Amino acid sequence: MARILLVDDSASARALLGVRLRDTGYEVDEVADAADAAAMALASPPDAVVTDLWMPGISGLQLCRLLRGEPATAHVPIVLLTASDDRRSRFWARHAGATAYVTKTEIDRLSDVLGDLTSSPMTRPPPALHPHIQTRGTVQERLSQLLDVSLFESTIAGEVRALSQKAEELEQLFEGLCALASDVAGYRWLALTTDIAPAPHVRYKTRLFIHTHPDLKEAAEREARDALGVVPPPERRKPDEGDAFFLTDKRAVEAEWSTPPILAPVRFGTTEIGQLALAPSRRGASYDDRRLVAMMANELGGPLRMAALVAEARRLASTDTLTGLLNRRAFVERIERARAASDKQLFPMSTLLLDVDHFKKVNDTLGHDAGDAVLQGVARVLLAMARKSDFVARWGGEEFVVCLTSTAEAGARIAAERVRRAIADARYALPNGEEHRATASVGLASADSADWNIQDLIARSDKAMYSAKHRGRNRVETA
Ligand code: GH3
Ligand code: MG
Ligand code: MG
Repeated sequence: MARILLVDDSASARALLGVRLRDTGYEVDEVADAADAAAMALASPPDAVVTDLWMPGISGLQLCRLLRGEPATAHVPIVLLTASDDRRSRFWARHAGATAYVTKTEIDRLSDVLGDLTSSPMTRPPPALHPHIQTRGTVQERLSQLLDVSLFESTIAGEVRALSQKAEELEQLFEGLCALASDVAGYRWLALTTDIAPAPHVRYKTRLFIHTHPDLKEAAEREARDALGVVPPPERRKPDEGDAFFLTDKRAVEAEWSTPPILAPVRFGTTEIGQLALAPSRRGASYDDRRLVAMMANELGGPLRMAALVAEARRLASTDTLTGLLNRRAFVERIERARAASDKQLFPMSTLLLDVDHFKKVNDTLGHDAGDAVLQGVARVLLAMARKSDFVARWGGEEFVVCLTSTAEAGARIAAERVRRAIADARYALPNGEEHRATASVGLASADSADWNIQDLIARSDKAMYSAKHRGRNRVETA
């Protein structure tokens, strides 16, 4: 026989309901006070709790929250009763974890509701999203601990959601998350992965951000990659260029390395878009660490998706879709931005303007798809030749531009010749399986002071390129 714990401060209401429930075949324990009810339920969990919503002292909502928070009673169905069908009570009942809500004016429904709850395990409440909080002391003390935790958690949740407003870029978003997490938890490292391609020509799709102490950097990265299943990118970057940035807190160094990291998926809707991992410091994962990670991961879906969309929109706006190179506008913008930051890094500067020779013939004889494949091939050659500090872009049509930073004319001539030869030596695979050969004419112009305007420099390269065409193509001319 199913055992019901019936809680109501009104003796007459209790008596009336008690009789009804017993008539329906339940064993009923009647209690007037929610604190006593909580103690009874924790000591010996009933099959269901039926409780009045508004009672003096501890309310039905608080009782509900307390029983949900305790491992012993987390799965006991709770039905809340109230005199009126008011929306706000219904809202709170749902958020406090009540299984069902019955108004006293339609009390006939109660036996049906209880029948469903006690017979079918399917209608039982889902397991708690986060690990349980451990509370201690009297029922009042436990309640106030729960209240503190939920206030703390809703504050953190609000802060994580607010990161969207402050952080447009993934880097900033992670930085904000670390600032928040390190305020409330001690960790050896905190890591976030997102499944987004940073650029079309970069092969690995998962980006990894790690926050740790500089002295722990390598070990932390290894551990995080292991835990999150992220393989290192094919070509390791220089240590200072990565996505990670680092704590300056020496205490982290003293930490032990024995505790396994806590992982939580970051979802947007039903799609997993990343993972959050935290390696606890010293003693190992506490309940708090686990709740914190679960909760932050839970709130991070929106902000992460938003940052990814912004990044993708930016990338699309600056990328030529056929070749993946910068487009003309982004090329000019990047150079101007770099120039605003420091002329020293750019000057002396040279630009190469390249135009594929007799390209129209490729389209006319082999088709437009073949033409596209050749343009993609030329883009690959240019990217492979360029240094990290150079800028490569598709200027338009079958014209490309390369900006060689810190390169005066003499050096640029050598580079231009090398590029010309690489284009001529390459084999361009066509969609029909055949290979094609191509050449380009190259115009070179140089500037050794910051007085130059990038558009003027390219205009001079363009003139030089035309003279290369006139002088027989597949050659370099200097302005
Ligand atoms: P030259 O040696 O004098 O440069 O001759 P050319 O045939 O390369 O020069 P022209 O400017 O007459 O032809 C350029 C051609 O490039 C014409 C245009 O249809 C083609 N083109 C421009 N953009 C694309 C593209 O994205 N894909 C393909 N397949 N063709 C393109
Ligand atoms: Mg042209
Ligand atoms: Mg051409």
